[in-house]
Formats: sequence, C-alpha cells, structure tokens
Amino acid sequence: MKKYFIVGNWKMNMAYREAVKLVKDIDSMTKPLDSNLEVVLCTPYIHIPVLVETLSHSAVRIGAQNCNENKSGAFTGEVSAEMIKSYDCDYVILGHSERREYFNESNELINKKILIALENNLKVILCIGESLDERQNDETNKVLNTQLRFCLSNIPKEEYENIIIAYEPIWAIGTGLTASNEQINETHNAIRNYLIEIMGGKGISVPILYGGSLNDKNASDILKIKEVYGGLIGGASLKSESFVNIIKTAEGYTNI
Ligand code: PEP
Repeated sequence: MKKYFIVGNWKMNMAYREAVKLVKDIDSMTKPLDSNLEVVLCTPYIHIPVLVETLSHSAVRIGAQNCNENKSGAFTGEVSAEMIKSYDCDYVILGHSERREYFNESNELINKKILIALENNLKVILCIGESLDERQNDETNKVLNTQLRFCLSNIPKEEYENIIIAYEPIWAIGTGLTASNEQINETHNAIRNYLIEIMGGKGISVPILYGGSLNDKNASDILKIKEVYGGLIGGASLKSESFVNIIKTAEGYTNI
C-alpha cells in the first residue's frame, strides 16, 4: 500500500474570495478522500486562518510556504513556526528554489528553519533540486547530496518521520519542462540512498515527492514511478480541475 502526498504550492497567487472558492471546490470534488492520500494546500500566510476554518470538516490540509528561523521577536514582516502551528496548520514548505534564489536562502539558513519548524510540531516539506547547468555538468547527485546533508544536519532522529523531501529540478519549475521518467527514477533512487546514509533505516520511509511542471497530463506516468510518493505542484494547483485530476490519478495508485 503506497501513501501519496499531493501538495499544492500556490506561491503568491489568489486573493481572498478566489482562495476560498478554490479550496471549497477541491474539497467537494475529492470527498471522501482516500485515507492513503494526504492533500495539502500551501497557501500565502494571510489566507491560512480562513482556509483552515473553511476546511474544518475536510481531510484536505492547509500548509505554509515558509517560516522564519527565529522563535519570535523584532523581525518585522516575518511569521514564526509557532504562529503557523497555532492555526492547526501542520505543514510548511522550506528550501523552495525560489526562496533560495530570490531571498538568498542558504542550506544553513534552511537547516535553522527546519529545526524550529520541527520544534513546533510542523511537518517539513524540504525542497531540493539542481539547476540546468548543474545537471548538464553531471553535478546533480553532488548538489542534492550536499543540500540534504546540510539541511538535515542536527535533526533529532525521532523527527525523521516529520520530514518529506520534494525533488524539484529548478529547470522544470514553472517552465513546462518536466524531467524524463528515467531522470526522475534515477534521481529519486539516488535521494533514497542518501537518506538512508544520513538517517539509517528511517531513511527508507521518508516520502520523496516530485515537483516541476507536474500536471494532469503527465501525472499518471510520473506518480507510478517506484520512489515517487506524490507531487509538489505549483501552476496546476491553482485550478480545481487540474489539481483534482492529479489527486484522482494518485488515488488510483494507492493500492499498488
Ligand atoms: C513549485 O512551485 O514547487 C512547482 C513545482 O511549480 P510548477 O508546478 O508550476 O512547476
């Protein structure tokens, strides 16, 4: 029995009314949700309270897209892990390539964010991925291994079960290009081996998701790859129909 995670990353999209409509549509179109399927919508912070309330009777979960690395204090404009958790929000995406690129987030900073998120009982969706140059120079495995080792350092062993990895080749995010099935298969296998090196036996059960132009056309091929346990979905998570089609595709595979 394979458990899948279908995670939407809304990025900086959706105003109040369209946000509420989208989650209501997704909820009504997927009810009842297969128990081997976790559906999480990572929305802008400002929508979290109202969307958690909107989904109070739903199995669809709300998550955040970031958190600050400090507990609390004079950090104008920032949001803490404790605040996120206080809204019954259980997930946070950390280390997304857009945050690494536009907000200069290093592996060391991401590691601090992961530690504070876990301390506050959030589940972390850690994004890793290589640039096109790095792939063409045969550096993919080295880059991913480094990202995993730095980002996951000093994490207490009992927290390993609260980590989810999203492999997102940077060149595939928002570009319409997806990694080939062979590339995904090969890279997810390599990530699994690194997780086992870092975490020992517990590395076997960490879910590894694929992200990068995943949509309702390519989901059936990608989600059936052995080490793919779901997807992190940007563009296609903003339309109920495409997102729900991806959820339904995963649902068809949970009994494999
Ligand atoms: C993402 O934002 O994590 C992502 C994978 O985006 P897209 O699906 O649009 O490529």
